[in-house]
Amino acid sequence: MKKIIRNGTIVTATDTYKADILIEENKITAIGLNLDCTDAEMIDATDHYIFPGGVDPHTHLDMPFGGTVTKDDFESGTIAAAFGGTTTIIDFCLTNKGEPLQKAIETWHEKSKKAVIDYSFHLMIGEINDEVLQELPRVIEKEGITSFKVFMAYKNVFQADDATLYRTLLAAKEYGALVMVHAENGDVVDYLINQALAEGKVEPIYHALTRPPEVEGEATGRAATLTGLANSQLYVVHVTCAEAVEKITEARNNGIDIWGETCPQYLVLDQSMLEKPDFEGAKYVWSPPLREKWNQDVLWNALKNGNLQTLGSDQCSFDFNGQKDIGRDDFSKIPNGGPMIEDRVSILFSEGVKKGRISLNQFVDISSTRSAKLFGLYPEKGTIAVGSDADLVIFNPNSKRTISSETHHMAVDYNAFEGMEVTGEPVSVLVRGEFVIKEKQFVGNAGSGQYLKRKKYGETSLIED
Ligand SMILES: [Zn+2]
Repeated sequence: MKKIIRNGTIVTATDTYKADILIEENKITAIGLNLDCTDAEMIDATDHYIFPGGVDPHTHLDMPFGGTVTKDDFESGTIAAAFGGTTTIIDFCLTNKGEPLQKAIETWHEKSKKAVIDYSFHLMIGEINDEVLQELPRVIEKEGITSFKVFMAYKNVFQADDATLYRTLLAAKEYGALVMVHAENGDVVDYLINQALAEGKVEPIYHALTRPPEVEGEATGRAATLTGLANSQLYVVHVTCAEAVEKITEARNNGIDIWGETCPQYLVLDQSMLEKPDFEGAKYVWSPPLREKWNQDVLWNALKNGNLQTLGSDQCSFDFNGQKDIGRDDFSKIPNGGPMIEDRVSILFSEGVKKGRISLNQFVDISSTRSAKLFGLYPEKGTIAVGSDADLVIFNPNSKRTISSETHHMAVDYNAFEGMEVTGEPVSVLVRGEFVIKEKQFVGNAGSGQYLKRKKYGETSLIED
């Protein structure tokens, strides 16, 4: 059935204008003033913005970590994402050393069958050897996985050595993929954690104090230097602090192909949250940690001036009761991560656009378009254009809502933004022309999300069906 959205204001990464949108067979087939169409379902978007569906480039759903598994799986996680205006996620597929990459990819395909929005995977590279190098071309060509994640932290768990990072950068250059790094100096962090524990410092705040901004800045600079040496390309996930922004800015100014992501939590929360009494600080334990408040301005400015380009949620949710409390007597055992997938877009709009820190078009670029472009999903995803997928968010820019675990749709028992009032919210959300959220009600189906094979890094293409 055809649909037509009338009377709304279309917002893309470059333009804002009033027009009708015609949807046929999952695609946008016409955009124009007073489109002539009588046999379509009419959706009235008077006084609403229409954004391209959000693209969240950084999620961890149904992921094992520290002896437990994230609370949100691909069903609850993608339902929450949809409520928040996100229609595509790229989740991190974890690999195990010594096992074929394909085995890990199949595990992730199995987990993600329940998704209600579209999804793709980044692939973790923990080691490089002949077997891994042999598999990579197939992973890119057959699976359409064109981004690889290397952890510079989590010693003895995920951490890769510098040679692995460097060889991954070389392989990415050769095959057309983008390397992503978690940039913290894991060896130094490991030393600082052991030293703190030996001194009896076990409370959640020591999570932040044993991962100081210097170790993030150092790792970011090292990764940037290796990227330049390999003449490759790099995407730094979850940038939190001035030290890391400086390294990215410097590398970009030197012509290195490097991109930076931050997350909503770093834009609005700060290190003092980890000092909350009664172990409540554990709700705010993730890596890199929250920083001193003044870093928030640094991050906002970097988004505004383009030295950071994207916003990922780093969704990685654990219940406060029953999961976070694994680390009640030892901060290093607190599962790292927070529930962020649902409020990512709202916080960027409310704190960014409404407070004059970024423009409306920058908001669309940061929350959707740029990630679609960097990760080979554009222009099917990330924009509103004839031929694009009809992934659309009908957004009320003026309604107010208070974020709370009482009303959120994530499966987790707390919300890190509890009590925060945000202006603007998605009213209806379509994925490939079908409602997933209609008038703030979930109307989608588990399993309706499609796996997306992605284009190679930097590969542009015309819209085709
Ligand atoms: Zn992450």
